[in-house]
Amino acid sequence: MIIIMQVGATAAQISAVIARVKELGFQAHLSEGEERSIIGVIGEDRKVEDPDQFTLMEGVERVMRVSHPYKLASREFHPQDTLVALNGTKVGGKKIVLIAGPCSVESRQQILEIAHAVKEAGATALRGGAFKPRTSPYSFQGLGEKGLELLAEARAATGLPVVTEVMEPGLVPLVAKYADVLQIGARNMQNYALLHAAGASQHTVLLKRGMMSTMEELLMSAEYILSHGNNRVILCERGIRTFETYTRNTFDINAIPVLKARTHLPIIADPSHATGKWEYVHAASRAAIAAGADGLIVEVHNCPEQALSDGAQSLRPEKFAQLVQQVRRIAEAVDRTV
Ligand code: PEP
Ligand code: MN
Repeated sequence: MIIIMQVGATAAQISAVIARVKELGFQAHLSEGEERSIIGVIGEDRKVEDPDQFTLMEGVERVMRVSHPYKLASREFHPQDTLVALNGTKVGGKKIVLIAGPCSVESRQQILEIAHAVKEAGATALRGGAFKPRTSPYSFQGLGEKGLELLAEARAATGLPVVTEVMEPGLVPLVAKYADVLQIGARNMQNYALLHAAGASQHTVLLKRGMMSTMEELLMSAEYILSHGNNRVILCERGIRTFETYTRNTFDINAIPVLKARTHLPIIADPSHATGKWEYVHAASRAAIAAGADGLIVEVHNCPEQALSDGAQSLRPEKFAQLVQQVRRIAEAVDRTV
């Protein structure tokens, strides 16, 4: 349930409503918009016997039941787009963000070289996995903390903020010490302990859609993070598993406009995992931006043929630079900038 305050409702009226919500045993989340404030009533709100009691309170315009299971993530609760700060820009604003870098951090030279190259091409942030979720336990698992240190070094050298994956709740403090953005990968989208820990950290989170998850499940996972009062959440469509085998995943382009309509959170696309092949990354990226994505996260490697993970879908730096030029033109067509 959400309580929509009148335009011009006073701070005292808002506090009184919040106090009443808490008195009834619910959590209250305040969303302060440019025009009006909205109070989210979180908990089993069907148990509020008489929602109309709130409409009798001063400053309240109306009370609305939110029919979908996610509340804080919904557009109803927060009609304006949420803007998430990243490197002096805001994800979800007019400017398209470009996060680029290798699938995995492999060595000092590798990450520094790629970081400089993507920065030069116009990237907003650097990606790179230090803790890798691999299908096989025998595959490269990432450099762990050493990888985080190298990412921090690359940030110091280029000024690019760092996006890197965290796979366990217990590692959130360590990864948050180095990373600007905590990535929660597709395989962990429903790792609820991890979602709680990432939410509680108050760190910015990039939440990727699970490969077999519906959009509603993605929004429910975002809700876990938001329920900690952490609204720095960026969603990511990275392809879902279908019967198709010519690509690694099926890029669900629908997810971009559908999520934009249903949630206030920014949404970016990952054309690398969505296609699994570098030759399709440009097309998928152009489509994502045309469909309204707020940015891209793209795998870039200086020597894809020797990459320790995801070489087949990694762009060489010069191809990434070309991609930035293409995206710039598409962005213009949809009234955005790069
Ligand atoms: C990655 O970004 O390298 C990754 C493992 O992505 P996903 O979780 O989307 O598979
Ligand atoms: Mn990868």
